[in-house]
Amino acid sequence: MAHISGVYINSAFLENTLYTIKRGIELSGLPVEFYEIITKPKRIHIVYIPVKMDSGRIEVFEGYRVQHNDALGPFKGGIRFHPEVTLADDVALAILMTLKNSLAGLPYGGAKGAVRVDPKRLSQRELEELSRGYARAIAPLIGDLVDIPAPDVGTNSQIMAWMVDEYSKIAGRNAPAVFTSKPPELWGNPVREYATGFGVAVVAREMAKRLWDGIEGKTVAVQGLGNVGRWTAYWLAKLGAKVVAVSDINGVAYKKEGLNVDIIANNRGLGGPALLEAFVSKDGAQYVKDPDAILAVDVDIFIPAAIENVIRSDNAGRVKARLVVEGANGPTTPEAERVLYQRGVVVVPDILANAGGVIMSYLEWVENLQWLSWDEEETRKRLEAIMVNNVARVYQRWQKEKWTMRDAAIVTALERIYKAMKLRGWI
Ligand code: GLU
Repeated sequence: MAHISGVYINSAFLENTLYTIKRGIELSGLPVEFYEIITKPKRIHIVYIPVKMDSGRIEVFEGYRVQHNDALGPFKGGIRFHPEVTLADDVALAILMTLKNSLAGLPYGGAKGAVRVDPKRLSQRELEELSRGYARAIAPLIGDLVDIPAPDVGTNSQIMAWMVDEYSKIAGRNAPAVFTSKPPELWGNPVREYATGFGVAVVAREMAKRLWDGIEGKTVAVQGLGNVGRWTAYWLAKLGAKVVAVSDINGVAYKKEGLNVDIIANNRGLGGPALLEAFVSKDGAQYVKDPDAILAVDVDIFIPAAIENVIRSDNAGRVKARLVVEGANGPTTPEAERVLYQRGVVVVPDILANAGGVIMSYLEWVENLQWLSWDEEETRKRLEAIMVNNVARVYQRWQKEKWTMRDAAIVTALERIYKAMKLRGWI
């Protein structure tokens, strides 16, 4: 049972996050009291959003905005729409954002928002009302130099467009830099659509260079065909890897010779299940009904890019890959990581591997604050340079200390936050 801000909340995800921080503080030699400070959010907001459904009935949705830490700069982190998300999960996700932003060297603290809703069950009009309602509810709490939300699981650039419009109406001015990952037509950047997946692919390439002879011809399985999973698969193939399997909740598409990832770029509007179906019907991939079979595909690299707690102690033994790159937030439990570590499997942690999304958010925010825009190639180069540098720093630290890569990443992230808090006189 985790104890956060006087509320007892039970969440395996939060437990695991707190465990990882405790271990990081022990390894780093930072004062043990820092654990108590860094595991408590600065503020937790709970909001209720009434929406008039198409049936005429009013439904009230519960939402959160957890502002975890702003020692390094304004709060920054996405908004998740998910039917099972809890406040405790949101706290864990906000803590991970603080660590991720610190590790990436960004001038941001960490936050995360969430609404308990299954967005797939809403009509477009209901989704717009809910998004605008949430933006109104958190409007007094956010701002371009205060807290800058973005999408996460279940949200996208259209939702950001509605939110930035709603906020702008309240502010009485166009306020582009308050939300990131907006559509390119509305102060966004074309790279954002694939930024997280591109970043995961770059991290995999950088690791393959260091562990082996490079990424060329290495086999890959990707779990999840949401925004992160699909673009990771796409870019890994473009960088020279062979993506043999992809999966979503409906099953696995497998092709020994490597999947044709152009199907991803050519079918941007498709959801995960339809994309999976397209690999089977258009690319001749074999369909396997059990989605968990993706874990056990015999490949060099496995990318969990769906949701948290999917590699657990009960299934970690099935992973055949030698390198796991975490596209999702928190996909590997600490027990599973121990099993993988003992077997010599290298796990590149989420806060390093999937930082491409928030790094792109940072670039977009910098553009918006100055009312300028970089073209796609220029932006992608900037993003790639930051990712490459981050891998190099964590790799170096990891080699020196012989910890897990997660330990090296967490310690690096915690040290930067600790120093900032110390300099400010907060601790
Ligand atoms: N939701 C993404 C993440 O978990 C991006 C957050 C952002 O851009 O603020 O990193």
